[in-house]
Amino acid sequence: MHCPFCQNPDTKVVDTRISDDGHAIRRRRECPKCGKRFTTMETSTLLVVKRSGNVEPFSRDKVISGVRKACQGRPIREEDLKMLGQRVEEDLRSRGLAQIESDEVGRAILKPLRDLDEVAYLRFASVYQNFSNLKDFEKAIEELKER
Ligand SMILES: [Zn+2]
Repeated sequence: MHCPFCQNPDTKVVDTRISDDGHAIRRRRECPKCGKRFTTMETSTLLVVKRSGNVEPFSRDKVISGVRKACQGRPIREEDLKMLGQRVEEDLRSRGLAQIESDEVGRAILKPLRDLDEVAYLRFASVYQNFSNLKDFEKAIEELKER
């Protein structure tokens, strides 16, 4: 990274922050030669391929609003949902892929949601995995009990 003031090729990072939506990394840099500071933004967009074939940027808010519906009436706090959104995003980003299937997003939600609340998990799984009868619920409940 060149210093924009004196073109010195060597600058040092003095602070790194991730934006609230998780889309950008903001770095505060300092030039050791002229002592000036400047900010750089690095964005890495994770794309989600929908079942329809449409592609859209990954949205942590969408994950949270999808999960929130399954959490109605459950003792789940807003910060639990935020934390879950963060876990899902970290999980997906750690795979190092530029784009992922929307099904993968759903799958990445299941585990942290199961840890958070079993009832919400069952609700979410029943929609996401298209539960069609009682057997599907029984199977999911058996899996929960085996843990
Ligand atoms: Zn400089």
